[in-house]
Amino acid sequence: MTRAIYPATFDPITNGHIDIAERASKIFHELIVGVYDRPMKSLLFSTAERLEMTRQAVAHLPNVRVESYSGLTVHFAKKHGAVVIVRGLRVLSDFEWELQLSLTYHSLAPDIETVCFMASQEYSFLSSSILKDIALNGGNIEHLAPSPVVAALRKRAMLHEDNFKNVAVRD
Ligand code: ADP
Repeated sequence: MTRAIYPATFDPITNGHIDIAERASKIFHELIVGVYDRPMKSLLFSTAERLEMTRQAVAHLPNVRVESYSGLTVHFAKKHGAVVIVRGLRVLSDFEWELQLSLTYHSLAPDIETVCFMASQEYSFLSSSILKDIALNGGNIEHLAPSPVVAALRKRAMLHEDNFKNVAVRD
């Protein structure tokens, strides 16, 4: 019985993340998707919103559940009895960061293995940042994210547009 975690910020979850969760769920008995509570980067969505969108996005996978967490990822893994940390690799530039992360995890918890899945070709360019950038500038993202995420980003894009207009009017 191998339990794995897939930790990330998911601000918001994209079809690229879902692809990794689907593939990992076929290999490990149980997968816990960990929504990181307080990353050192600015976020568009609250933890509750990210948690809800992530839950909806993987609801079709019976051996996958979603939890939020704060603190060290290895502590989150241990708390849930997970021995594998799942990550994804898109382009060469991901490798440096993912290697550093996996060595850090190993130095803190040598009994936990990091397993990186290669991105599927169709999502190898996709990140949450790119998704937000397209959406906030009025582009089509329907092929890149599940419908609750598309709807949430459209709502944010409208607010963004209104704020922009207000600033333009004030100027
Ligand atoms: P974090 O802020 O925790 O790095 P990300 O959303 O940026 O969260 O990425 C989480 C993990 O998912 C990383 O290992 C990243 O490489 C992987 N990932 C993100 N987008 C994709 C994608 N389109 N295809 C495959 N893996 C991805």
